[in-house]
Amino acid sequence: MEDILTDNTADNTVNNSTATEDIVIIGAGPAGAVVATLLNAKGYRVRILERQHFPRFSIGESLLPQCMEFLAEANMLDAVEQHVQEHHFQYKNGAAFVRGDSQSAFDFRQKFSEGRGTTYQVQRAPFDNVLAREAERQGVEITWGHTLVNIEFDGSDSTLTVADENQNNYTIKTRFVLDASGFGRVLPRLLELDRPSDFPARTSLFTHVEDNIPEGDFDREKILITVHHQHKDVWFWLIPFAHGRCSFGVVARSDFFDQFSDDLDERLAQILDSEPTLKKLLSNANFDTPAREISGYASNVSQLWGPGFALLGNAGEFLDPVFSSGVTIAMKSASLAASALDRQLQGEEVDWEAEYATPLRAGVDTFRAFVEAWYDGRFQDIIFAPKQSSEVRAMISSILAGYAWDTNNPYVKDSEHRINVLAELCQLA
Ligand SMILES: Cc1cc2nc3c(=O)[nH]c(=O)nc-3n(C[C@H](O)[C@H](O)[C@H](O)COP(=O)(O)OP(=O)(O)OC[C@H]3O[C@@H](n4cnc5c(N)ncnc54)[C@H](O)[C@@H]3O)c2cc1C
Repeated sequence: MEDILTDNTADNTVNNSTATEDIVIIGAGPAGAVVATLLNAKGYRVRILERQHFPRFSIGESLLPQCMEFLAEANMLDAVEQHVQEHHFQYKNGAAFVRGDSQSAFDFRQKFSEGRGTTYQVQRAPFDNVLAREAERQGVEITWGHTLVNIEFDGSDSTLTVADENQNNYTIKTRFVLDASGFGRVLPRLLELDRPSDFPARTSLFTHVEDNIPEGDFDREKILITVHHQHKDVWFWLIPFAHGRCSFGVVARSDFFDQFSDDLDERLAQILDSEPTLKKLLSNANFDTPAREISGYASNVSQLWGPGFALLGNAGEFLDPVFSSGVTIAMKSASLAASALDRQLQGEEVDWEAEYATPLRAGVDTFRAFVEAWYDGRFQDIIFAPKQSSEVRAMISSILAGYAWDTNNPYVKDSEHRINVLAELCQLA
């Protein structure tokens, strides 16, 4: 089989000989690394195809405590802890919000749900690399630089066409494919499962800075979310790392950016200039990294699984960056898919809708209710309300910490109704 994987034939045709794998995973990001490690621990032959070589840049640097539970389940937490200092992972215990003169900070350790209350803010290049190398150390095979280009199903088994780095194609037969290709969205595109998101097209413009924020002016153990003082649907993130640097970005409807410079660095500077609180906080910052932009990332699919495949993480649905839920959802999907697939490969009848799609979507829908309420201002009215019940704050803190699947939490079970009632009460106060 190794011969086939390293076979560099000169033309682009599919080789006749074909390797066979129990499970093939597309992509070695957090969803792929975690699901591969969980299935490898159950004794399956697992191969990840990853089109890039790690470390590679990825956006999504503020983790939530809930995802530490999934790393623990996959026996990957020690690997992360061992690299905290080397890669400047920043201890994180909460989220702080600012809107004009109003401030509100949530400490995730004071939360309603069981489970860890702290996590890290990480540059994703080294973090994803730590997870992928740990998956390899535990026995997962990762084929780096190889891209899945086509899939053909024969019942639930499938034949994958993979391009190596010289654009030579070869095939792999497999019993099950887990698509963890993130924004690559490989199977949604190949199988025409893509559906538009309900959210309007938004753009994120971001960079990394040497922040030079004086000690005491900023709680580095929390992500800082600043709402634009004139536009409630425009917000900034400031995600501190442990070596005096921050990830800094702004999110708005795509047309908001039209009034600013075409040059991305100038554009980011102009938008920062329009927000006094943040401008002051970053007044000594050294903007030493070119700004980048990403647009239209919210996405959905018509189905999260089919005979012989399931979609994980961003290859399924991606909502919005505001509550830093992406990596947590990716790892939750990995955990659910690993247990459903294990049972199926042991010969049990598995209802993927009931055992994978429905439970995954339950938490995603909780986040969705909060994201919608963030952009229309209801959730902002709640968190900036002058008087707040500590009990309700603990329930909200749980969701901000990623515990969006804990149905003991009334704000999970009945998110939309609870948010509406609370927002109305806050407006009356
Ligand atoms: C602006 C913005 C800010 C965000 N901020 C946060 C945040 O603070 N916290 C958070 O948790 N989330 C955040 N997210 C979301 C986060 O980026 C993603 O949810 C997360 O990275 C998803 O992980 P994944 O494993 O599904 O995919 P990824 O991490 O994207 O990994 C997918 C992998 O698949 C590989 N791949 C793609 N196509 C192929 C192919 N054809 N063959 C082989 N390999 C392939 C890619 O190279 C990649 O390595 C943010 C998103 C955006 C847009």
